[in-house]
Amino acid sequence: MRLVFMGAPGAGKGTQAKLLAARYGVKHVSTGDILRGHMIKGDEIGLEIKDVMQSGGLVPDSIVAGIIKPFVETGRFIFDGFPRTLSQAFMLDEMLERNGMGLDRVFYVTITDDIIIERMSGRHTCPFCGAIYNTLFNKPGEAGTCDKCGGTLTVRDDDSEPVVRRRLAAYYNLTEPIIEHYRGMGLVSEISGFGEINDVTKRIEAEIAHRRGGG
Ligand code: AMP
Repeated sequence: MRLVFMGAPGAGKGTQAKLLAARYGVKHVSTGDILRGHMIKGDEIGLEIKDVMQSGGLVPDSIVAGIIKPFVETGRFIFDGFPRTLSQAFMLDEMLERNGMGLDRVFYVTITDDIIIERMSGRHTCPFCGAIYNTLFNKPGEAGTCDKCGGTLTVRDDDSEPVVRRRLAAYYNLTEPIIEHYRGMGLVSEISGFGEINDVTKRIEAEIAHRRGGG
């Protein structure tokens, strides 16, 4: 299974990508989580990307390419947050082609900006294991503590409203052309991100079943 999840930050694509990966036994690859992991470690890559990540900008393609390459080579992945630009989409096309593969599907999770702002202001993430919670829905059992690993939950610097607005603008400018690119290849399934997490998952699974059944 080779899938790409697209959607504005806060549309819920990360949550859905994680659930689907667990269900189908495929690796969930969030470039955002991996990059944050480098920042937390403070390694060479972490130091290089810190400023651009904290201001909501995009990390250079060369760094992202190094991160995703090993996952592409396994041929089983759900990408979440990658590709983020048209040049990254071309880079992925080339890598897949070199390995004699193609994408199975691109899921585009859509939702309005107002709902994104509302959701993100309540978003708490675990810096240790990457779990995502929300104070409006999907609360952890104990406030401020990760259910999965017991880590202390934080609000990401890049989830503050001005940064979210900047990220949305960057998203629409750079990412929408990618959707068009994949539409041209007949790969895009647009999924409404409204409603409960479960409802969205059901929509995605129905689409997968529909495609597999060829009907
Ligand atoms: P995310 O968790 O996907 O919202 O990503 C958080 C931040 O990580 C973004 O605002 C970017 O700074 C960086 N990032 C994640 N994925 C990519 C990517 N594919 N290309 C460039 N920067 C990325």
